[in-house]
Amino acid sequence: MKLLHSGKVRDLYLDGDELIMVASDRVSIYDVVLPTPIPDKGKVLTQLSLWWFDRLADLVPHHVVSATDVPAEFAGRAVRCRRLEMLPVECIARGYLAGLGLEEYRKHGTVSGVPLPDGLVEGSKLPEPIFTPTTKAAAGEHDEFMTFDDVVAAVGADTATRLRELTLAVYTRGAETAAANGIIVADTKLEFGVDPGGGIVLADEVLTPDSSRFWPADSWEPGRRQYAFDKQFLREWSQGLDWDRTPPGPEIPPDVVAATRARYVEAYERITGRNWQ
Ligand code: ATP
Ligand code: MG
Repeated sequence: MKLLHSGKVRDLYLDGDELIMVASDRVSIYDVVLPTPIPDKGKVLTQLSLWWFDRLADLVPHHVVSATDVPAEFAGRAVRCRRLEMLPVECIARGYLAGLGLEEYRKHGTVSGVPLPDGLVEGSKLPEPIFTPTTKAAAGEHDEFMTFDDVVAAVGADTATRLRELTLAVYTRGAETAAANGIIVADTKLEFGVDPGGGIVLADEVLTPDSSRFWPADSWEPGRRQYAFDKQFLREWSQGLDWDRTPPGPEIPPDVVAATRARYVEAYERITGRNWQ
């Protein structure tokens, strides 16, 4: 198989007119891949995405062709999928304020041009979920917020409207499903592609700890940093280092690797109700 693309976390191989998308154990923070892998991360992300794709299939078609018809060496962390023309928008939905959304709100009172009420703080629940798309930056650059009009300019009005509807529908379904298991989905990032017939298809990964902020509902408290089942732990560890967030990233010590792995596994177990083995 031909390696088409090696991203920060995943490798894409071409197999006929289909793709094999392989999730590695690589981890990136601030868009820099760190030199130390997180064991099982690729499998956790792949299995959690598959669990969600199934539960979203009535809302939007997805790119998965098979979770098992993949080369044995990648078993558990690869999917065979349809090769799509990816749309140049990172489709983000936010139900709570955190991360770059919070920074943007503090500067402008809006996120992606969507006005928000005064007085919100870190972790605040928004009056309703909002669509806050960003650009898909090239390697080495950071994504930037797009207004809805920017999305219209990039993909056309019909597709932009559909992307907003689908993103909010997937977020709402995901948030309701996770809430039943005590997890808040603060925000999530989706990627869509277009199939040869022009249909919009949900691609990439979905509602994973790499693409979303998951918080335990029972300890949620606006006004402070939330406990998170994702790379937030690594980001906070890195803030204590003398590192300027440019490559090369720092080696991760074993205890931080173990704690990060545990959070990915806990996200999987709490959301799906299954044991990770
Ligand atoms: P970049 O692609 O800029 O390196 P990244 O580091 O986020 O971004 P990964 O997430 O590691 O990349 O790799 C996944 C890549 O595969 C993304 O570029 C994504 O847009 C692309 N992709 C996902 N699903 C499909 C699909 N069905 N068809 C074509 N491309 C896809
Ligand atoms: Mg990606």
